[in-house]
This record gives sequence, structure tokens and C-alpha cells, in this order.
Amino acid sequence: MNPSLAIEMVIVISIFSILSHKLKILDIAGTTLAAAIGTIIYSTIGRVGFIVITVFVVTAGIFTKLGYDRKSRIGAAEPRKGLRGWRNVVGNGLVAASAALAYALLPAYSEVLLGCYIGAVAAVFSDTLATETGLLSKGEPRLIIGFKKVRAGTPGGVTLVGYLGSLLAPLMLILGYIPVGGVNPLSFQEVAAIVFIAGLVGTSVDSAVGQLLQGTYRCEVCKKITESKNHCGRPTVLLKGYSLIDNHVVNLICSLSGAVVGAVVMLAFYNTV
Ligand SMILES: [Zn+2]
Repeated sequence: MNPSLAIEMVIVISIFSILSHKLKILDIAGTTLAAAIGTIIYSTIGRVGFIVITVFVVTAGIFTKLGYDRKSRIGAAEPRKGLRGWRNVVGNGLVAASAALAYALLPAYSEVLLGCYIGAVAAVFSDTLATETGLLSKGEPRLIIGFKKVRAGTPGGVTLVGYLGSLLAPLMLILGYIPVGGVNPLSFQEVAAIVFIAGLVGTSVDSAVGQLLQGTYRCEVCKKITESKNHCGRPTVLLKGYSLIDNHVVNLICSLSGAVVGAVVMLAFYNTV
């Protein structure tokens, strides 16, 4: 890494860390971990990689706060006024950071691993927008498997509005990927194919895993069904799914599915050239 890019990296990551803390996007632990992941991405993939993940974090932060009061009333808003912690950062960023590290360590596979990186980000970005725009719509969600109508915020529930809203993610990633003075090893077609397919697959995988495996609980005080292990100041009772698989683990699986799509798309492009 050349010295001027290193200085640029330190300045940019410092500014984003201060903003993420001041604007209450991430708490202290989340901001620290995000800065570490940002440093890995900046120093391996470079500026383009950092722009891709920043487009996701900023847009997701805005959409989480959009209509927050309404999402709160139906009990489906992100907790803590949308302030996210280190578990959110792991769920959304660990696969991308791993792909970025592998990209630097295995130059022979750099294009496939860059595909994994972009696919991982596209998956969690699309899924976040699907959730947040779906919650803003008045339509009743249906389970992705079996299409039964469910209450808004139920793991596995999908809406048409959510799927349409999720399309904003690949569109923004394509714009964000336009190189800003850096090298751009993937073609426009490759990036477009990865972000649209990874977005659709990731959103669907997230819902399916949420429906089939995620722990769902009942509060014994207010009788609400919830994703959290505590409600009304008391431990809740597991109704279905696995207590080890919470929303963050589901996000991790979602981003992994996006990384797989990225690799498959890149390998498909290789075989057609
Ligand atoms: Zn309760």
C-alpha cells in the first residue's frame, strides 16, 4: 500500500468512525469493529471496496431510521432507535472482510474473491432494504415458504414492496462501483450480474433461514411473539427454531450465500470467455 493511500485511508476511516458514532448508527464496540473491517477492506481491495461497503452502511442506516415510529408501533423496528452494535457488524461484515483478506492473500483467485466480496455486500444490503421498506408498506407479509400470512416483523415474512425496495441495493452498488481513480478488475456486466443475483438470493435465503431455523420466543408477561431472549424485563420462552440462531447469525448466512453467488457468477464468466 503506498503512503498517500495509507494516509487517505486513516483520514477517511476516522471521519466515518466519528460520524457513525455521532449520528448513532453504531455504538462504540460496533464503530471500533467497523473501523477494523474498513481498514482491512481499504488496505486489500482499496478505495473501490471501501466505497461499496460504505454505500451499504450509509443507505441501510438511513432506511432503518425511515418511518421508525411506525415500525416501533408494530413492534418490528430495530431496537435501540436503530443504533447497531458489534453483532450487527459481524453479521453484515465478517464474510465481506474475510473475502477481502483472501483477495489479498490469494492473488491467483483475485477476480473470483472480488466477486465473493461484492456478492456478500449485495446480499446483506438487499436484505436490509427489503426488511426496512417492507415494514413501511401496509401490505401483510407472507411466509417465503408456504405463503401463509404473518404479522409484520415475523422472521421469514416477505412482501412484494420489500422485494422491490431491495432492488435499490444493486442499483446503488453499480453506481458505487464506478471506479474513483482506482483499478477496476471486474467488468460492468460481471458486477451487475453479481449484485442483482446475490441480492435476490441473499434476501430469499435470509427469509427462508429466518423462517426455518431462527429462534422465535414468546414473552410470558405481554404474550407478544418476539425474536429476543428478553422482553418486558423477563426471559422469554423458546417457541420454535434454535436459540443459537438469532438475527445476526441469519445475516451471516445471508452474506455467505451472496459470496457463493459472486464466486459462481465469476466462474461462469470465465467459462464463457
Ligand atoms: Zn413482553
